[in-house]
This record gives sequence, C-alpha cells and structure tokens, in this order.
Amino acid sequence: MKPSNSPLRAATRLSTALRALGDWPDPGQVVALLTTLEAASEVQPCLRPGCSGTCTWAGRGRPMLFCTAACRTAYDTRRAELVLQIELLETLLHRLPSEPARLVAGDLAKRRWELARYPALGRTRPEGP
Ligand SMILES: [Zn+2]
Repeated sequence: MKPSNSPLRAATRLSTALRALGDWPDPGQVVALLTTLEAASEVQPCLRPGCSGTCTWAGRGRPMLFCTAACRTAYDTRRAELVLQIELLETLLHRLPSEPARLVAGDLAKRRWELARYPALGRTRPEGP
C-alpha cells in the first residue's frame, strides 16, 4: 500500500489544484497554492561525480551546475575521455576474435556505465561554474 504522501499523490493533488485555478488564476490563489508545496531548494549538489561541493541558487543568470570552474573542467575532460575511449573500443570490438572481444565488451560496458554519470549538458560554450 502506498503512503498517502507519496510523490505521485502529491503531484496528482497539485495537478488537480492547478486545473481548479483555471486559465487566469488570481495571484493570491497561486501564492496560496505555492505555500502548500515543499520549499524549492536554494542549494544543490555539484554535478561532477564524486564531488561533495554544492551550488547555490543565485537568482539571476544561468544557474550554477558545478561548484567551481575546476569541477566543470574536470567533468568536461572526463566526459570527453570516456566518449573517445568508447568510440575507439567500439571500433576495435568489431575487429577482434571472440575471446578478446568478450574482454573489450566487458570494459566497454563499464565505461558506458561511468559515462551515464556524465550526461551531455547542452552547452555550446564554456561559462563560469
Ligand atoms: Zn564540484
């Protein structure tokens, strides 16, 4: 049995409340609804795997994703390394006999597993942390 305060039930209640406000809700009703929600966090963890640093909501500009410029660089560097290594190993894999191919396939799986922790962030140019 699901608890009554599960995230799904909370989202359903919010969805119902938003529909009840109509297309042009009164600002007071919106504020009242927001007060029923859990407060949005002002601090989030740094996105670089293994970093224990945090990012603080600045309220303007692009939100911080990394605690420092060095963390952003380390993230980008490791991600680029993994992408290149995976491409090279995928190319190599198709040229190998079965036994070494099995070893390479296992290594590839681990590198893809690590790469899952480094999603593309959709940035086109480097910015501050
Ligand atoms: Zn960091």
